[in-house]
Amino acid sequence: MSVDRSRLHIALQRSGRLSDASKDLLREAGLRIEAGKNSLTARAGNFPADLMFVRDDDIPTFVSDGACEFGIVGQNVLEEFALGQAEPGFERVAELGFGRCSLKIAAPERLPYEGPRTLAGQRIATSYPRLLRRFLQDSGIDAEVVEMSGAVELAPRLEIASYICDLVSTGATLEANGLRAVDTVMESQSVLIRTLRPLDAGRAAIAEQLLSRLQGVLATKESKYIMLNAPSEALKGITDLLPGADAPTILPLHGRPGHFAVHAVCQESVFWETLQKLKDAGASAILVVPIEKMML
Ligand code: ATP
Ligand code: ZN
Repeated sequence: MSVDRSRLHIALQRSGRLSDASKDLLREAGLRIEAGKNSLTARAGNFPADLMFVRDDDIPTFVSDGACEFGIVGQNVLEEFALGQAEPGFERVAELGFGRCSLKIAAPERLPYEGPRTLAGQRIATSYPRLLRRFLQDSGIDAEVVEMSGAVELAPRLEIASYICDLVSTGATLEANGLRAVDTVMESQSVLIRTLRPLDAGRAAIAEQLLSRLQGVLATKESKYIMLNAPSEALKGITDLLPGADAPTILPLHGRPGHFAVHAVCQESVFWETLQKLKDAGASAILVVPIEKMML
């Protein structure tokens, strides 16, 4: 396949836990993805970008080599890759808030665990040998790392290892295999990465457009637009309470001298507790509305 250098290339997991959310994120950024389920690439119909559907383990390599300018991958896969590289060929752009999981040490129910020292001299099975070795090293523990490419939770039953180090989200898989999580090696979620290879001017401009849209989408997810009315003496207290809002708009209310409307974009979640505090500080007619699009 020849590579079209006038378009951006974005590496996404082809099928698995990150695929749907990765595609959804790009769709929210306005990219129309035109491809059947089984294709390895797809063209964004209305944006100069091509999507490359690959195994998640290959994404850090593709982005570092510059074959793809952007990629979406779990921090666990990314850090494991980075630990094997002399120099990183990618840069982390943003945490994406999905694909959350933890890389945990897990032990069979019958075995004790009293901190990392319990692991000394033991065999531990994992698909993340570099992250596990770093954890052991940081804890000053000498143990044997047994590398497996999958089905790590079977290792204790097969007597390949006593302990395992594997990804956990709910813990249900561990439990089903008679294991329990006992320590955390790393917390993870998916991230957007970009290549450190220099881009020509044309593609650099497209990359900036994409980033600006994605940052807008990510900011929108948490942000709310808040509107309320307040008497002038309450304005200071109220604006101090608004979560993550800088420079709110304050407008005089027609026909109500000394009363103002306060409008602000809040960059953090707005909870019922916050509304109660605003009310107690003198606010009335409080409205919180979602923001559909935002370009910062
Ligand atoms: P591929 O065929 O792309 O190599 P895979 O089997 O390695 O797929 P998945 O199981 O789809 O990958 O997981 C992809 C990523 O999803 C993980 O690397 C991790 O970042 C994240 N993830 C979130 N929750 C979990 C979980 N409970 N178990 C495993 N991975 C999880
Ligand atoms: Zn994988």
